Amino acid sequence: MVEGLIIDGQRVNASDGQTFDVYDPSSGEVLASVAKATKADITRAVQSAHAALASKAWGGILPAERGRIMLRIAQAIRDRAEELAMLESRDNGKPLRQARTDVQVASRYFEFFGGAADKIMGHTIPLGPGFLDYTVREPIGVSAQIVPWNYPIQIGARGVAPALAAGCAVVLKPSSEAPMTALRLGEIALACGLPPGVLNVVPGTGSEAGVALASDPDINQLTFTGSVEVGIAVAKMAADNVVPVVMELGGKSPNVVFADADLDLTVQGVTNAIFQNAGQTCSAGSRLLVERKAHDALVERLAARARAMRVGPGVSDPDMGPIISKRQLETIERYVQIGKGEGAEIAAGGERPSGASLGRGFYYAPTLLDRVAPDMRVAQEEIFGPVLAIITFDDLEEAVALANRSQYGLVAGVWTRDINKAMAVSSRIKAGQVYINTYGAGGGVELPFGGYKKSGYGREKGLESLVSYTQVKNVCVKFAAV
Ligand code: NAD
Repeated sequence: MVEGLIIDGQRVNASDGQTFDVYDPSSGEVLASVAKATKADITRAVQSAHAALASKAWGGILPAERGRIMLRIAQAIRDRAEELAMLESRDNGKPLRQARTDVQVASRYFEFFGGAADKIMGHTIPLGPGFLDYTVREPIGVSAQIVPWNYPIQIGARGVAPALAAGCAVVLKPSSEAPMTALRLGEIALACGLPPGVLNVVPGTGSEAGVALASDPDINQLTFTGSVEVGIAVAKMAADNVVPVVMELGGKSPNVVFADADLDLTVQGVTNAIFQNAGQTCSAGSRLLVERKAHDALVERLAARARAMRVGPGVSDPDMGPIISKRQLETIERYVQIGKGEGAEIAAGGERPSGASLGRGFYYAPTLLDRVAPDMRVAQEEIFGPVLAIITFDDLEEAVALANRSQYGLVAGVWTRDINKAMAVSSRIKAGQVYINTYGAGGGVELPFGGYKKSGYGREKGLESLVSYTQVKNVCVKFAAV
């Protein structure tokens, strides 16, 4: 059976009837056959979104009612949590408990932004007697959203929920590597009463569906989450139509560990930050900057932890699942070879694991690259796999300089018992989010998230993200005294 596109409230085949196969990375087996959106399908989806905006059912809806539909979606996601988590785990390969968290976070996005739908307010501006000047935040229109494969339901919900809260209509293009839960989200939204055309879901390739959506002259806003390289291409396409863009791109985020840090807490935090989702996380803590005095003890503990991790099929809920594809696995292998060639030492992993349960899946062992120098490629480039680059520093000045020695600036972690040191580092780090003695905050739905430097611009998550889905109209009224 083919998983159809969702356009204008209907499940449909692609206009040319083409499909693509989606693979389970745990086994390499085909998981599903999915309709492959064409340019014509994208055009139809964008037009149906415009029709929804012009309709009474969505364009004329009360903000509170918009919020209620979103709260129903949040509840429906929770009601189907186990089924969605299982599907996400099979599609993406992530351990089941991580997929369960992703589903809960997706639900939270609809809850959080559903609650905000009737609280999007403007200002009054004092111009003096005889004037009333006020601003209105209007929906920006049709939001095109292009998402990657690493957190499909979370990132899908992260963009869709604020857009709906603001009153927009959305065309969502999931990655062809992992499109399944985005389609379920589209189904759920319809079943919860979201009018047809308000959320269209159009899986397809980047080169056809992605390009068609980014260059569509009738979209009004674009949210892109993915690599820097594709992000630049997408931003240029949007620029041709003067379409504003939110760019959520890659990272090489540092965890800065001082010798006075709580070692147990740090080992736990640093391990999760790199190995969650097999390191395929934009905000992965993929650079460990450790004070020289603490290096040996910390690396020993991290290595023991990495070696003890169970790697296996996502649905068996191991500590770490497979890599998304053979291609990505080979990229990771290449980077580890490059690191070794540059002089890094393997402190754990550095190879494909073996084991009967791993079959033909795309697995790589949790890997620590020690003795990394700051300008090595493995210290500078996003590997997007379970590979931690370890670099030492001697003092706070050097720690800050190393943390900022990157083209990226998405997230940073600081680990110390000294609050003054923590505050000094956090104020000087160039990153969109800084965590102190923790890393991530359970999905961080409420916290503005986005990049400095080449990690992107614009903010997702938190009330901050509503800015991208609204446009400000200023109304100036002149009246005479009577
Ligand atoms: P990618 O850039 O290859 O693809 C992202 C999306 O863009 C996919 O849907 C893809 O089909 C589409 N696409 C590809 N080429 C296109 C084109 N020419 N025009 C329009 N669309 C196109 O990224 P990926 O491999 O799916 O994901 C990994 C990358 O995403 C990493 O760099 C990671 O850091 C980044 N990422 C960032 C965030 C964040 O919030 N900052 C979150 C997750 C992932």
